[in-house]
Amino acid sequence: MALLGECRSGAGRGFDPVVMLTFGTGIGGAAVRGGVLLRGVGGEHPELGHLPADPGGPRCYCGASGCFESLASGTALTAAARIVGLTDGAELLTRAREGEDTARRIRADALAATASATWTILHTLLPERIVLGGGMMDEHFEVFAEAVRGAVERATLVPPRRITVAPAELGWRAGVVGAAGAAMAAAGRD
Ligand SMILES: [Zn+2]
Repeated sequence: MALLGECRSGAGRGFDPVVMLTFGTGIGGAAVRGGVLLRGVGGEHPELGHLPADPGGPRCYCGASGCFESLASGTALTAAARIVGLTDGAELLTRAREGEDTARRIRADALAATASATWTILHTLLPERIVLGGGMMDEHFEVFAEAVRGAVERATLVPPRRITVAPAELGWRAGVVGAAGAAMAAAGRD
């Protein structure tokens, strides 16, 4: 619903396909093509947070190891932060931005996971725009966007100049706008 909102009147407007990644407690992901949300078997949405990012990475609750979200979500960063005596992922990201070595090292793993997941997304979905949202992006969009752009630049088989990354524009309102749009479309009033 957040991505539908962004496509209707936010960072995804005028682009197609659009992929959105939301960094929060977990990592949510969705893709829209031709104005329609991509769904799979049984109407399920893709689980982009569980793209493999590091085969030797931490065990994920889904049963696999090194999933994107087990390295780059707020929960993952908070777990890593506590091991080194910090309060949570937010403090860790702030310290990394200030140049603190340990925090930068942990953030680097999250950024590498983001680049790795982006690589898979680029080659499977060929999005024209990648939208980054979720609480973590309020203050740290630019550093995560750099990781995404780095993957775009290394991907020689996709048209790099046409793929852009942008911060979500609607925040918490995106889901409401998307749901309203979907309801209007369902009622034939779009
Ligand atoms: Zn997983």
